[in-house]
Amino acid sequence: MIALISHEDCALHQMGLEHPEQPARLDAIHDRLISSNLSMVLFEHDAPLATREQLERAHDPEYVAEIFAVSPKEGSVWLDGDTSMNPHSLNAALRAAGAAVHGVDLVMHGPCQVAFCNVRPPGHHAEHNRAMGFCIFNNIAVGAAHAMAHYGLERVAIVDFDVHHGNGTEDIFADEPRVLFCSTFQSPFYPFKGADTVSDHIINCPLPAGTDSQGFRAAVTDRWLPALTNFQPELLMISAGFDAHIADEMAHFRLMEADYTWVTLELRQIADQYAKGRIVSSLEGGYDLGALGRSVYAHLNALF
Ligand SMILES: [Zn+2]
Repeated sequence: MIALISHEDCALHQMGLEHPEQPARLDAIHDRLISSNLSMVLFEHDAPLATREQLERAHDPEYVAEIFAVSPKEGSVWLDGDTSMNPHSLNAALRAAGAAVHGVDLVMHGPCQVAFCNVRPPGHHAEHNRAMGFCIFNNIAVGAAHAMAHYGLERVAIVDFDVHHGNGTEDIFADEPRVLFCSTFQSPFYPFKGADTVSDHIINCPLPAGTDSQGFRAAVTDRWLPALTNFQPELLMISAGFDAHIADEMAHFRLMEADYTWVTLELRQIADQYAKGRIVSSLEGGYDLGALGRSVYAHLNALF
Protein backbone atom coordinates (compact mmCIF):
# COMPACT_ATOMS: atom_id res chain seq x y z
CA MET A 1 0.00 0.00 0.00
CA ILE A 2 1.19 3.48 -0.85
CA ALA A 3 0.01 6.54 1.05
CA LEU A 4 -0.68 9.49 -1.25
CA ILE A 5 -0.55 12.60 0.91
CA SER A 6 -1.78 15.95 -0.33
CA HIS A 7 -4.14 18.79 0.56
CA GLU A 8 -6.35 21.18 -1.37
CA ASP A 9 -4.56 24.11 0.30
CA CYS A 10 -1.47 23.24 -1.76
CA ALA A 11 -3.34 24.21 -4.94
CA LEU A 12 -4.27 27.66 -3.57
CA HIS A 13 -0.65 28.80 -3.38
CA GLN A 14 -0.14 30.78 -6.57
CA MET A 15 2.90 32.81 -7.64
CA GLY A 16 1.48 34.22 -10.89
CA LEU A 17 -0.16 32.75 -13.97
CA GLU A 18 3.15 32.59 -15.87
CA HIS A 19 5.07 30.98 -13.00
CA PRO A 20 6.22 27.43 -13.81
CA GLU A 21 5.64 26.22 -10.23
CA GLN A 22 1.86 26.20 -10.68
CA PRO A 23 -1.13 24.46 -9.07
CA ALA A 24 -1.80 22.42 -12.24
CA ARG A 25 1.29 20.32 -11.42
CA LEU A 26 -0.57 18.60 -8.59
CA ASP A 27 -3.61 17.87 -10.76
CA ALA A 28 -1.41 16.43 -13.53
CA ILE A 29 0.06 13.98 -11.03
CA HIS A 30 -3.16 13.17 -9.23
CA ASP A 31 -5.10 12.57 -12.44
CA ARG A 32 -2.35 10.35 -13.86
CA LEU A 33 -2.18 8.23 -10.70
CA ILE A 34 -5.90 7.93 -10.07
CA SER A 35 -6.58 6.80 -13.63
CA SER A 36 -3.82 4.18 -13.45
CA ASN A 37 -3.54 0.60 -12.27
CA LEU A 38 -2.16 2.02 -9.01
CA SER A 39 -5.46 3.54 -7.97
CA MET A 40 -6.43 0.43 -5.99
CA VAL A 41 -3.28 0.54 -3.85
CA LEU A 42 -3.13 4.29 -3.26
CA PHE A 43 -4.56 5.46 0.04
CA GLU A 44 -5.23 9.17 0.00
CA HIS A 45 -4.45 11.15 3.14
CA ASP A 46 -4.94 14.83 3.92
CA ALA A 47 -1.68 16.52 4.86
CA PRO A 48 -1.79 18.05 8.36
CA LEU A 49 -0.33 21.48 9.10
CA ALA A 50 3.25 21.22 10.33
CA THR A 51 3.62 22.62 13.85
CA ARG A 52 6.06 25.36 14.81
CA GLU A 53 7.98 22.77 16.85
CA GLN A 54 8.32 20.49 13.81
CA LEU A 55 9.48 23.37 11.57
CA GLU A 56 11.98 24.60 14.13
CA ARG A 57 13.80 21.28 14.12
CA ALA A 58 15.01 22.17 10.61
CA HIS A 59 14.70 25.97 10.52
CA ASP A 60 15.82 28.92 12.59
CA PRO A 61 12.88 29.89 14.87
CA GLU A 62 13.38 33.51 13.83
CA TYR A 63 13.02 32.55 10.18
CA VAL A 64 9.82 30.62 10.90
CA ALA A 65 8.44 33.60 12.81
CA GLU A 66 9.37 35.89 9.91
CA ILE A 67 7.44 33.73 7.41
CA PHE A 68 4.35 33.84 9.63
CA ALA A 69 4.79 37.60 10.01
CA VAL A 70 5.13 38.43 6.30
CA SER A 71 2.27 36.14 5.14
CA PRO A 72 -0.01 38.60 3.33
CA LYS A 73 -3.73 39.07 3.99
CA GLU A 74 -4.15 40.13 0.35
CA GLY A 75 -1.94 40.50 -2.69
CA SER A 76 1.47 38.90 -2.60
CA VAL A 77 4.92 39.36 -1.09
CA TRP A 78 8.20 38.19 -2.68
CA LEU A 79 10.67 36.25 -0.55
CA ASP A 80 13.32 36.12 -3.26
CA GLY A 81 13.42 36.81 -6.99
CA ASP A 82 11.27 33.81 -7.88
CA THR A 83 9.45 32.83 -4.68
CA SER A 84 6.34 34.65 -3.49
CA MET A 85 3.52 34.19 -1.00
CA ASN A 86 -0.16 34.89 -1.53
CA PRO A 87 -2.71 34.70 1.32
CA HIS A 88 -2.84 30.88 0.95
CA SER A 89 0.87 30.20 0.66
CA LEU A 90 1.58 29.90 4.38
CA ASN A 91 -1.00 27.15 4.79
CA ALA A 92 0.22 25.42 1.63
CA ALA A 93 3.80 25.48 2.93
CA LEU A 94 2.67 24.19 6.33
CA ARG A 95 0.73 21.36 4.62
CA ALA A 96 3.72 20.51 2.41
CA ALA A 97 6.01 20.20 5.42
CA GLY A 98 3.27 18.48 7.44
CA ALA A 99 2.88 15.91 4.66
CA ALA A 100 6.47 14.75 5.12
CA VAL A 101 5.93 14.49 8.87
CA HIS A 102 2.72 12.53 8.30
CA GLY A 103 4.51 10.32 5.77
CA VAL A 104 7.15 9.48 8.35
CA ASP A 105 4.44 8.68 10.92
CA LEU A 106 2.64 6.40 8.44
CA VAL A 107 5.69 4.39 7.42
CA MET A 108 6.96 4.11 10.99
CA HIS A 109 3.60 2.86 12.30
CA GLY A 110 2.34 1.02 9.21
CA PRO A 111 0.27 -0.18 7.46
CA CYS A 112 1.92 1.75 4.62
CA GLN A 113 5.61 1.17 3.93
CA VAL A 114 5.72 3.88 1.29
CA ALA A 115 4.37 7.42 1.30
CA PHE A 116 4.39 9.92 -1.56
CA CYS A 117 3.72 13.57 -0.77
CA ASN A 118 2.03 15.27 -3.74
CA VAL A 119 2.58 18.78 -2.43
CA ARG A 120 3.72 22.28 -3.27
CA PRO A 121 5.53 24.52 -2.60
CA PRO A 122 8.59 22.27 -2.99
CA GLY A 123 11.24 22.38 -0.28
CA HIS A 124 14.81 21.40 -1.10
CA HIS A 125 16.17 24.91 -1.78
CA ALA A 126 14.87 26.30 1.54
CA GLU A 127 17.83 26.71 3.88
CA HIS A 128 17.97 26.87 7.67
CA ASN A 129 17.11 30.55 7.64
CA ARG A 130 16.01 31.51 4.15
CA ALA A 131 13.47 30.82 1.42
CA MET A 132 14.65 30.48 -2.15
CA GLY A 133 13.97 28.83 -5.49
CA PHE A 134 10.18 28.35 -5.12
CA CYS A 135 10.72 26.82 -1.62
CA ILE A 136 9.55 28.20 1.74
CA PHE A 137 10.04 25.38 4.25
CA ASN A 138 12.31 22.40 3.56
CA ASN A 139 9.67 19.67 3.59
CA ILE A 140 11.99 16.66 3.38
CA ALA A 141 14.29 18.10 6.06
CA VAL A 142 11.35 18.72 8.39
CA GLY A 143 10.31 15.10 7.86
CA ALA A 144 13.82 13.75 8.46
CA ALA A 145 14.23 15.86 11.59
CA HIS A 146 10.90 14.48 12.86
CA ALA A 147 12.10 10.93 12.23
CA MET A 148 15.18 11.56 14.35
CA ALA A 149 13.52 13.59 17.11
CA HIS A 150 10.27 11.65 17.48
CA TYR A 151 11.36 8.10 16.64
CA GLY A 152 14.99 8.30 17.68
CA LEU A 153 16.28 7.17 14.30
CA GLU A 154 20.03 7.45 13.99
CA ARG A 155 20.44 6.91 10.26
CA VAL A 156 18.14 8.69 7.82
CA ALA A 157 19.13 8.82 4.14
CA ILE A 158 17.83 11.58 1.87
CA VAL A 159 18.39 11.17 -1.86
CA ASP A 160 17.63 13.98 -4.28
CA PHE A 161 17.37 13.38 -8.02
CA ASP A 162 15.90 16.79 -8.87
CA VAL A 163 18.00 18.46 -11.59
CA HIS A 164 18.87 21.26 -9.15
CA HIS A 165 21.15 20.79 -6.16
CA GLY A 166 19.30 20.40 -2.85
CA ASN A 167 21.26 23.23 -1.27
CA GLY A 168 18.73 23.74 1.50
CA THR A 169 18.88 20.14 2.64
CA GLU A 170 22.67 20.24 2.59
CA ASP A 171 22.66 23.51 4.54
CA ILE A 172 20.32 22.15 7.22
CA PHE A 173 22.17 18.84 7.71
CA ALA A 174 25.76 19.90 6.99
CA ASP A 175 26.73 19.11 10.59
CA GLU A 176 24.29 16.24 11.16
CA PRO A 177 26.00 12.85 10.69
CA ARG A 178 22.71 11.02 11.35
CA VAL A 179 21.67 12.16 7.86
CA LEU A 180 23.27 10.88 4.66
CA PHE A 181 22.42 13.24 1.79
CA CYS A 182 22.96 12.09 -1.81
CA SER A 183 22.27 14.49 -4.68
CA THR A 184 22.69 14.43 -8.45
CA PHE A 185 22.36 17.79 -10.19
CA GLN A 186 23.25 19.84 -13.23
CA SER A 187 26.41 21.88 -12.64
CA PRO A 188 27.22 24.66 -13.09
CA PHE A 189 23.58 25.65 -12.72
CA TYR A 190 21.12 27.15 -10.25
CA PRO A 191 21.54 27.31 -7.22
CA PHE A 192 25.31 27.27 -7.95
CA LYS A 193 26.11 25.40 -4.75
CA GLY A 194 27.24 21.92 -3.78
CA ALA A 195 29.83 21.21 -6.45
CA ASP A 196 32.77 21.66 -4.06
CA THR A 197 31.31 20.20 -0.87
CA VAL A 198 33.66 17.91 1.03
CA SER A 199 31.85 15.77 3.61
CA ASP A 200 31.63 12.08 4.42
CA HIS A 201 27.83 12.26 4.77
CA ILE A 202 27.04 14.53 1.81
CA ILE A 203 27.46 12.78 -1.52
CA ASN A 204 27.13 15.43 -4.21
CA CYS A 205 27.33 14.41 -7.86
CA PRO A 206 27.56 17.50 -10.09
CA LEU A 207 26.91 16.50 -13.69
CA PRO A 208 27.18 18.54 -16.90
CA ALA A 209 24.33 19.87 -19.04
CA GLY A 210 23.26 17.16 -21.47
CA THR A 211 23.62 14.35 -18.92
CA ASP A 212 21.57 11.40 -20.11
CA SER A 213 20.47 8.07 -18.75
CA GLN A 214 23.97 6.62 -18.88
CA GLY A 215 25.64 9.49 -17.01
CA PHE A 216 22.93 9.63 -14.37
CA ARG A 217 22.92 5.89 -13.76
CA ALA A 218 26.72 5.79 -13.54
CA ALA A 219 26.68 8.51 -10.85
CA VAL A 220 24.03 6.69 -8.84
CA THR A 221 25.77 3.34 -9.22
CA ASP A 222 29.27 4.62 -8.47
CA ARG A 223 28.53 7.19 -5.76
CA TRP A 224 25.07 6.85 -4.19
CA LEU A 225 24.66 3.11 -3.87
CA PRO A 226 27.98 2.34 -2.14
CA ALA A 227 27.37 5.23 0.30
CA LEU A 228 23.82 4.06 1.01
CA THR A 229 24.94 0.45 1.48
CA ASN A 230 27.66 1.56 3.86
CA PHE A 231 25.26 3.85 5.79
CA GLN A 232 22.49 1.25 6.21
CA PRO A 233 19.63 3.76 6.58
CA GLU A 234 16.72 3.05 8.93
CA LEU A 235 14.53 5.28 6.75
CA LEU A 236 14.95 6.34 3.13
CA MET A 237 13.56 9.70 2.05
CA ILE A 238 13.45 11.00 -1.50
CA SER A 239 13.45 14.59 -2.75
CA ALA A 240 11.61 13.58 -5.89
CA GLY A 241 12.05 16.26 -8.51
CA PHE A 242 11.36 15.36 -12.12
CA ASP A 243 12.84 18.38 -13.89
CA ALA A 244 15.80 16.30 -15.14
CA HIS A 245 13.37 14.84 -17.69
CA ILE A 246 14.31 15.44 -21.32
CA ALA A 247 10.97 17.17 -21.96
CA ASP A 248 11.43 19.62 -19.07
CA GLU A 249 12.61 23.00 -20.28
CA MET A 250 13.70 24.21 -16.84
CA ALA A 251 17.10 22.53 -17.23
CA HIS A 252 19.23 20.46 -19.59
CA PHE A 253 19.31 16.81 -18.55
CA ARG A 254 17.92 14.08 -20.76
CA LEU A 255 16.34 11.56 -18.39
CA MET A 256 13.23 9.58 -19.24
CA GLU A 257 10.56 7.71 -17.33
CA ALA A 258 12.65 4.52 -17.46
CA ASP A 259 15.40 6.28 -15.52
CA TYR A 260 12.98 7.16 -12.73
CA THR A 261 11.83 3.55 -12.68
CA TRP A 262 15.42 2.35 -12.52
CA VAL A 263 16.61 4.67 -9.75
CA THR A 264 13.47 3.99 -7.71
CA LEU A 265 14.00 0.21 -7.94
CA GLU A 266 17.62 0.63 -6.84
CA LEU A 267 16.52 2.77 -3.88
CA ARG A 268 13.79 0.33 -3.00
CA GLN A 269 16.37 -2.45 -2.74
CA ILE A 270 18.32 -0.36 -0.23
CA ALA A 271 15.15 0.38 1.75
CA ASP A 272 14.09 -3.27 1.71
CA GLN A 273 17.49 -4.41 2.87
CA TYR A 274 18.10 -1.93 5.67
CA ALA A 275 14.99 0.17 6.36
CA LYS A 276 12.17 -2.40 6.51
CA GLY A 277 11.07 -1.01 3.16
CA ARG A 278 10.26 2.42 4.63
CA ILE A 279 10.32 5.17 2.01
CA VAL A 280 8.93 8.70 2.19
CA SER A 281 9.12 10.54 -1.13
CA SER A 282 8.17 14.19 -1.53
CA LEU A 283 7.63 16.13 -4.74
CA GLU A 284 10.21 18.79 -5.58
CA GLY A 285 10.50 20.13 -9.18
CA GLY A 286 9.08 18.98 -12.50
CA TYR A 287 7.46 21.53 -14.79
CA ASP A 288 6.41 19.79 -17.99
CA LEU A 289 2.98 18.60 -16.92
CA GLY A 290 2.79 15.53 -19.16
CA ALA A 291 6.30 14.33 -18.33
CA LEU A 292 5.66 15.06 -14.65
CA GLY A 293 2.55 12.88 -14.48
CA ARG A 294 4.22 10.03 -16.35
CA SER A 295 7.40 10.26 -14.30
CA VAL A 296 5.63 10.23 -10.93
CA TYR A 297 3.63 7.24 -12.14
CA ALA A 298 6.88 5.46 -13.08
CA HIS A 299 8.31 6.33 -9.65
CA LEU A 300 5.32 5.03 -7.71
CA ASN A 301 4.82 2.00 -9.91
CA ALA A 302 8.39 0.99 -9.02
CA LEU A 303 7.64 1.44 -5.34
CA PHE A 304 4.56 -0.75 -5.36
ZN1 LIG B 1 14.48 21.46 -9.60
